[in-house]
Amino acid sequence: MKTIELNNGVKMPILGFGVFQIQDSIECERAVMTAIETGYRLIDTAASYLNEEFVGNAIKASGIDRDELFITSKLWVQDTGYRQTKDAFQRSLNRLQLNYMDMYLIHQPYGDIFGSWMAMQELYYEGKIKAIGVANFSTDRLMDLIVNSGFVPAVNQIETHPFHQQIESQKFLQEQGVQLQSWGPFAEGKNNLFHDQILSNIAAKYEKSIAQIVLRWLVQRNIVAIPKSVNSERIAENFKIFDFELTDNDMNSIATLDTNESSFFDHRDPKMVKLLSELKLSL
Ligand code: NAP
Repeated sequence: MKTIELNNGVKMPILGFGVFQIQDSIECERAVMTAIETGYRLIDTAASYLNEEFVGNAIKASGIDRDELFITSKLWVQDTGYRQTKDAFQRSLNRLQLNYMDMYLIHQPYGDIFGSWMAMQELYYEGKIKAIGVANFSTDRLMDLIVNSGFVPAVNQIETHPFHQQIESQKFLQEQGVQLQSWGPFAEGKNNLFHDQILSNIAAKYEKSIAQIVLRWLVQRNIVAIPKSVNSERIAENFKIFDFELTDNDMNSIATLDTNESSFFDHRDPKMVKLLSELKLSL
């Protein structure tokens, strides 16, 4: 598996497995087990996905050495703040049944993120987290965090797929030394992604699926992708993207699909800031 070197020297697999919206324990454990058996080593969960315990069970059952895996979880808004973050991190670690995390992200750019960031730096220096980062930070919020904390996140995990390509954001992140990680690589199938004509034509040329073309396009842009699936055939399919290469022409065709807009919602929309900030989970 190709890896990306983060700004602190930690190596992260360029392709991983996401578990958002897999809340059933049996389904989640089976999916993560299948992913690990298939060869995925990066698993992306979050406290708010309410499945850290199931991910932990699958990791344990897999028998894979801990140091071969790259486990990411995320801090939910209600737990931002210095003290709350330390407690929430420990609860996530306990649910995952681990004694360190490879990556821990601030899930949303809301709440007392500076208090959280301070706590996360301490956990990082104590060796409890190998790399710390953020998710859903727009470039202005990221610059605020960098310049006013003096500690550059290793990763920004943001919505990135053919309809929202994040070209300008990627340039900015590269300049800051922050790795772009894509969430929603398939836009969860929105905008008819799995039937798109441009992607379908490219897929036919390589005898690959649209999903494989999208993931290949992301890794060729040096973007870490974490597709989610509960289907073992699709989990395997999404992993087979390292035996072909898209041409510049293919990449340029895919570039035409960019709408430069979210297919979900804008994290800067005040309504969403309020809604997500008020979303209390029993964690
Ligand atoms: P996604 O990976 O873009 O799409 C998942 C959907 O695509 C599911 O409906 C899945 O169905 C389907 N699918 C997967 N592989 C397929 C294939 N080969 N052919 C056809 N359909 C396929 O969506 P996502 O789960 O939202 O994003 C991926 C991961 O990013 C999440 O799991 C999570 O870890 C992370 N994420 C982070 C944030 C954040 O705020 N930081 C937000 C969203 C997601 P089946 O399961 O039935 O195969």
